[in-house]
Amino acid sequence: MKYLSRACVVLNLFILGCEEKLESPGYPELRIYLDRFEDEAKERGYDFDLTNVEAAYVDNIIMNGLTYCGWGYSNYGGSGRRRIEISKAERCDWLSLSDMERENFVFHELGHAFLNRGHDDRMLCDGSVASLMTGGPNYLTVYTEPGEDRDYYIEEID
Ligand SMILES: [Zn+2]
Repeated sequence: MKYLSRACVVLNLFILGCEEKLESPGYPELRIYLDRFEDEAKERGYDFDLTNVEAAYVDNIIMNGLTYCGWGYSNYGGSGRRRIEISKAERCDWLSLSDMERENFVFHELGHAFLNRGHDDRMLCDGSVASLMTGGPNYLTVYTEPGEDRDYYIEEID
């Protein structure tokens, strides 16, 4: 029996190992969104080079005792490096975000890290936020699909 239970433990570890691998599609290379940011800028006549912008998943982002799901550093740790981080913390729920939500998120952080922008809480006349750089709670759904709205917000951030 003892041998059997040990076999079960080994089997469990093996299954967990497999599940972890299966999860990896939920963590696409963040570079996908950096490349997309360059492409969208190029379509609008800007020549952005994000080669030197670092992008990484981290387990937690804590600043002054507060927890964040993403952060854009225009001067990471005083090193002069530009870097964005996306938190893998469960409450941030990155795995269940859609591609568009992830794009909203990464483009917002690139606004901080690459374009040196702060938050912008202006509103448009129709009550929607004026910028992807909103500091409000709906930063993941500033736009939800390709089209006019997305074009407006990407032009605004460029
Ligand atoms: Zn922000």
